[in-house]
Amino acid sequence: MGWGIISTWEMAHEGTKKGASILKNGGKAPEAVTEAIKEVENNPEYVSVGFGGLPNENGDVELDAGYMNGDTLSAGMTGAVKNIKNPVILAKNLSEERFNIFLTGKGAEKYALEKGLEKRNMLTEKSENEYKRRVEDVSKKLLSPYEGHDTVGVVAVDNFSTVIAATSTSGLFMKKEGRLGDSPVIGSGFYADSDTGGAVATGLGEDLMKGCISYETVRLMKEGKKPQEAAEIAVKNLDKKLTDKRGKSGDISVVCMNRYGEWGAFSNTREFKFVVCCEGKEPEIYKIEDYKVIKI
Ligand code: ASP
Repeated sequence: MGWGIISTWEMAHEGTKKGASILKNGGKAPEAVTEAIKEVENNPEYVSVGFGGLPNENGDVELDAGYMNGDTLSAGMTGAVKNIKNPVILAKNLSEERFNIFLTGKGAEKYALEKGLEKRNMLTEKSENEYKRRVEDVSKKLLSPYEGHDTVGVVAVDNFSTVIAATSTSGLFMKKEGRLGDSPVIGSGFYADSDTGGAVATGLGEDLMKGCISYETVRLMKEGKKPQEAAEIAVKNLDKKLTDKRGKSGDISVVCMNRYGEWGAFSNTREFKFVVCCEGKEPEIYKIEDYKVIKI
């Protein structure tokens, strides 16, 4: 038990390594989490986060991010923001404000530029081509417009028992202009309380929000559940509730870590990968397959 970092999806492997080395060298969780996420945001190969993220239905890249510091419960959120290189840093900046902690669209962009954050056209040729292909496929009714999305979410605890949770995503591919999912919504996409731990989610935002899934996972840990049990109960309960009340549930995946660096992960999807590194160990990739946690 000690420091630890856990991240959604394999795309976070390099970032998680970077975050882990910060924690290993006595660094703090805010830096570990933001460096881990920036690594994914800056890589154009990952088409669902940051630079090269997948566009909305108009062909514009609109990005969402959230950040929470569990020591103070300070949270910052941004949604549908364009042209800002690192949305997670924008969210972190907002978390330091007393008022106006959730900014979207043009207001978020203006605030980011005032704070000196870097401006960048986030659309890459790769994502633009993906968009053109999708427009064609959708017009031929070969595909649902919303297939293709993933969020990088990271929870870390440092040697000072500070818990940070943060997210970054381009949301659903071909989403409506201005659409926000769970990722920038406190309690849904992310939650952190250093007295207990933190959680982040990925999947269909419209359904994840209906269960405030990240808050619920942290609440279960606060009640005394181990992180693995908390993740399993939170995902299974929301999946069942949605299925009972609405006939089906979208994808729901959660990773979490308590203040002691113990972790958990669960998913109702066929396969969900995540990356973990704890004190004394190397960063490792795991997957949830058929409801079981398997080390890759
Ligand atoms: N939860 C994100 C959203 O709905 C997408 C994802 O994590 O796959 O915007």
